[in-house]
Amino acid sequence: MGKALIIGCGGVASVAIHKCVQNSDAFEEICIASRTVSKCDALKEKLQGGKCKITTAQVDANSVEQLVALIKRVQPDVVLNLALPYQDLTIMDACLECKVSYVDTANYEPEDTAKFEYKWQWAYREKFEKAGITALLGSGFDPGVTGVFSAYALKHHFDEINYIDILDCNAGDHGYPFATNFNPEINIREVSAKGSYWEDGKWVETEPMEIKRVYNFPEVGPKDMYLLHHEELESLGINIPGIKRIRFFMTFGESYLRHLKCLENVGMTSIEPIEFEGKKIIPLQFLKAVLPDPASLGPRTVGKTNIGCIFRGKKDGKDKTYYLYNVCDHQECYKEVGSQAVSYTTGVPAMIGAMLVMNGTWKKPGVYNIEEFDPDPFMEALNKWGLPWQESFNPELVD
Ligand code: NDP
Repeated sequence: MGKALIIGCGGVASVAIHKCVQNSDAFEEICIASRTVSKCDALKEKLQGGKCKITTAQVDANSVEQLVALIKRVQPDVVLNLALPYQDLTIMDACLECKVSYVDTANYEPEDTAKFEYKWQWAYREKFEKAGITALLGSGFDPGVTGVFSAYALKHHFDEINYIDILDCNAGDHGYPFATNFNPEINIREVSAKGSYWEDGKWVETEPMEIKRVYNFPEVGPKDMYLLHHEELESLGINIPGIKRIRFFMTFGESYLRHLKCLENVGMTSIEPIEFEGKKIIPLQFLKAVLPDPASLGPRTVGKTNIGCIFRGKKDGKDKTYYLYNVCDHQECYKEVGSQAVSYTTGVPAMIGAMLVMNGTWKKPGVYNIEEFDPDPFMEALNKWGLPWQESFNPELVD
């Protein structure tokens, strides 16, 4: 039993909050705090009345001072950061000052440089150790479940893992020619960046969307997928012993890529400020304002997601292959919590990570990536809370 402070009230937070309320044996009380408090109040209105007590608050998570005042007032057992990656460090600073454990789903990224790396958050290790509090980094799906899957594969199926391919397939159709399934700014920054993968202890860089493969996903069928840089490659490259190569692939439809190319070509995806009618604006933020709100895609998205990892390595001296994945149906998610599967597959693991840190199952003073904890309680909770996993010992491989 405990109290969580949840920061942010967007697509992912909404699912995590629904799940905390369902899991009221663990979450006795939650406080939802975000920039726009009316969104928190609307969710409270919808979900209150059960065993989990809900309060709301307004906070600017860029201000350590405001965050500290809020944490001191709420006195949570854990802070779950579901705002944007730009706020990770201010929220970590506030947690340190108040000696409260911290959980997030995406690594810190400076707002003016499209470059995500763990170095900023890993630099807090000693401070968190000294304060005796835990920071759990990356408790979404990818990063998140992909790291838990890796730790589980290593614990139960391999002596060493040499190759990991992470495959993220969204076969959902929302009927728009172009829309993003989560925060458009974060999504477009991610996919328009150069690709890279980790091989023999170093990064190999590719042009954006340079490497394409077709994969026949279980329960979904064949889809085009492209190699991207993704943040869990950095931590898994260090935390999984014996690793020779890790790659990350994400599926994109032809219409999405055509529109993205065009928007890029006309400068709409740029994060360089421009002068417009006497005001400085960032083209990508303007684009976000004209695109459909990801939260509005829920009712119209049909189809499934399939996200998982293919592992190759050795067990008892023999070569072994193992595929762990989850299939999630957009409409099923919408019926349950009013969101599509991309928010659902992130919000459920965020709730689970916060629960395990809050109840002390995962307690290690310092800053840790998710694969550094015992995967078993998380794997069990995935089955219980809506993201059941499946396994295959003879999957199709990616060349
Ligand atoms: P949204 O844009 O839907 O929600 C972000 C929320 O944060 C909004 O409620 C927003 O408030 C709030 N917020 C933004 N800035 C501040 C601030 N300065 N102070 C307080 N609140 C603020 O994003 P998503 O829900 O799609 O994503 C949330 C996080 O999840 C992101 O970090 C994203 O990168 C991550 N993510 C992780 C995935 C994974 O698998 N690991 C997958 C998908 C997303 P307002 O309502 O005022 O805009």
